[in-house]
Amino acid sequence: MTIDTYRQNQLFIGGEWVNPIDGEVVPSIDPSTGKEWAYAAWGGPKDIDRAVTAANEALRGPWSKFTPNDRANLLRRFASLYEKHVERLAELESRDNGLPIRDTKAGVGMHATWYNYYAGLANSIEGRQVPMDAGMHIYTTRTPVGVVGAILPWNAPLQMVVWKLAPVLATGCTIIIKTAEQTPISSYEVAKIVQEAGIPKGVVNIVTGLGPVAGAHLVSHPHVNKIAFTGEHRTAQEIMKGASANLKRLSFECGGKSPHIIFDDANLEQAMNAATHSGFTGCGQSCALGSRLIVQSTIYDKVVAELAARAQKVRIGQALDPKTQMGPHTHQEQLQKTLKYFELGQQEGAKLVTGGKRLTELGDGFFVAPTVFANVNNKMRIAQEEIFGPVVSVIPFKDEDEAVAIANDTIYGLTGALWSQNLGRAHRVAAQIEAGTVWVNTYRYLRWSVPYGGFKISGIGRENGPESLEGYLETKAVYMNLSGNYADYYAQ
Ligand code: ADP
Repeated sequence: MTIDTYRQNQLFIGGEWVNPIDGEVVPSIDPSTGKEWAYAAWGGPKDIDRAVTAANEALRGPWSKFTPNDRANLLRRFASLYEKHVERLAELESRDNGLPIRDTKAGVGMHATWYNYYAGLANSIEGRQVPMDAGMHIYTTRTPVGVVGAILPWNAPLQMVVWKLAPVLATGCTIIIKTAEQTPISSYEVAKIVQEAGIPKGVVNIVTGLGPVAGAHLVSHPHVNKIAFTGEHRTAQEIMKGASANLKRLSFECGGKSPHIIFDDANLEQAMNAATHSGFTGCGQSCALGSRLIVQSTIYDKVVAELAARAQKVRIGQALDPKTQMGPHTHQEQLQKTLKYFELGQQEGAKLVTGGKRLTELGDGFFVAPTVFANVNNKMRIAQEEIFGPVVSVIPFKDEDEAVAIANDTIYGLTGALWSQNLGRAHRVAAQIEAGTVWVNTYRYLRWSVPYGGFKISGIGRENGPESLEGYLETKAVYMNLSGNYADYYAQ
């Protein structure tokens, strides 16, 4: 099955498909060809207002009567329907954002497990009873934070939907999903599953639209209680300002410039596989990219040569070709950004070992070559700034202390990894890396029950695992006087 053109002229608000009031229908580009392939409705501020009203009504409607177990059953039903749509969802996602179909099938294929895991968590949300003075019964309850505005990036739309929608449904919140303007298609398809699963109207609303227009309006809306955002930290800073009026709850997952350390006692074959995959996957459009390869001097030249050889063998092609390992950039602006860094790295004095160019022989798609820079010093901009392209900067180090110092010399703190067969060293270094996730002798291993999020400028809060529920719940403390005896303070 290959979908030729796709048209979604309406927004999903209040359980219904509706025409945009102040938005429009905009073409979506297939990054593998550089040509229009789909049309999607974009919402404006009035459409966001309508979605916020629907989400607030839903919060106070039948949804509020759902018990935790009702929500668990709904999540399970949703998961089993979702499973039936994996092929179609993966194809739409690959077509719209250029991720290779083998990656989207594997990724989307795991989402039902995520929803099922959160079905289990729905029944685990509990308060506590606090022993105190005689006659005083004190307990806490957990209540949904309310209406959540989820603002999604374009690099992995469906993964970002599940990471936010699953805890929303488990906790009893409602959600307005503002997808990225570059990749609206696959999320609209999720709306159809929302309808099929019988999720009450208004609990899930999906609106794409321009970040500074529709997104900013959602962020500053007085009747939205929380913003869950994934994207660049500069956008997160704007969101913080916009959300300040009603002190919205915030959870952010921003970028990274992950240190990927290889010690000379590593299993080099496996480390090289990880360095290649983590450096070029998704055309480098991943916040967890192993973009700084920090290598012990004793094996530095060997690693650089081996990485370059492997980079040249990466199979680059159309996203829908099952053999493709690396597709194009998702959009023209990101292509231009990566090309700029190809130049910048050379101007800064790094050695371009391989890549560093656009691949025009693949047509008008946004393809670039997997790129390796050697002789990189961690102060260079190619080592400090998130490129979001398939660019690995290889940085030498002498000993453990220097490896850790380089690893942590960054504003980011999302993920990090190290390769060593020395158990003591692995523990010492893992403990010192300032990042929310550390991989030892592996890379990019992500699971539903494990928290994910960043230290430093890489974010606030955690997604996945029970930890993510915190961001979707308020705690209420109830002091109940059972003694029947309230002493009048003023009478004393
Ligand atoms: P990128 O620059 O890589 O596109 P962004 O952080 O700008 O990443 O985009 C992530 C999401 O944030 C997108 O859905 C985008 O529309 C949205 N966005 C961008 N600017 C704003 C803003 N000022 N307010 C709210 N959302 C925004």
